[in-house]
Amino acid sequence: MYKYKDTKINLIKGDITKLEIDAIVNAANNSLLGGGGVDGAIHRAGGGEILKECKEIGGCPTGEARITTAGKMPSKKVIHTVGPIYKDGKQNEEEFLYNAYFNSLKLAVKNKLKTIAFPSISTGVYGYPKNEASSIAIKAVIDFIDRYGEIDEVIFVAFSQEDYDLYYKKLNKNI
Ligand code: ADP
Repeated sequence: MYKYKDTKINLIKGDITKLEIDAIVNAANNSLLGGGGVDGAIHRAGGGEILKECKEIGGCPTGEARITTAGKMPSKKVIHTVGPIYKDGKQNEEEFLYNAYFNSLKLAVKNKLKTIAFPSISTGVYGYPKNEASSIAIKAVIDFIDRYGEIDEVIFVAFSQEDYDLYYKKLNKNI
């Protein structure tokens, strides 16, 4: 457990769909119509209501975020954000990934959600190198707290031991 200013920052290993928290973040794609990885897990666990709302929203540009119900999951809301597909690091991937985290936090605060959990966005099928991606994730959260505060707890959810160890090292160094 870490603390930065008034915000608790936590790291856990496990399945984000099981968390009883205000908002879980989905690493979605531009269509918002579901996919594999964490996206598939969220739609499966939450049920059809999420997909129905996503269809009504009609998609989401890379780096932005949209909000829906969490359906049958224990969290209150799902914030769907779209990280970049990693190509060569020269297609503004860093900025898009940073914005995905930052805009998810903005949307949480706008909806009066105080606790939020993030998966490691873009590091699965989208191929973002995990080391860089974890630094960007932590930086975006720290910058958001510096600029806005207003969030009680941020949880980084690692799905693998490798991700857990990476975040553990980085959080110890930076916070
Ligand atoms: P992207 O398309 O943005 O790369 P993925 O879903 O393929 O998204 O992967 C993003 C990260 O989410 C990966 O680190 C993957 O291991 C992780 N992940 C997959 N399922 C879950 C889950 N149920 N809970 C938390 N993280 C998950």
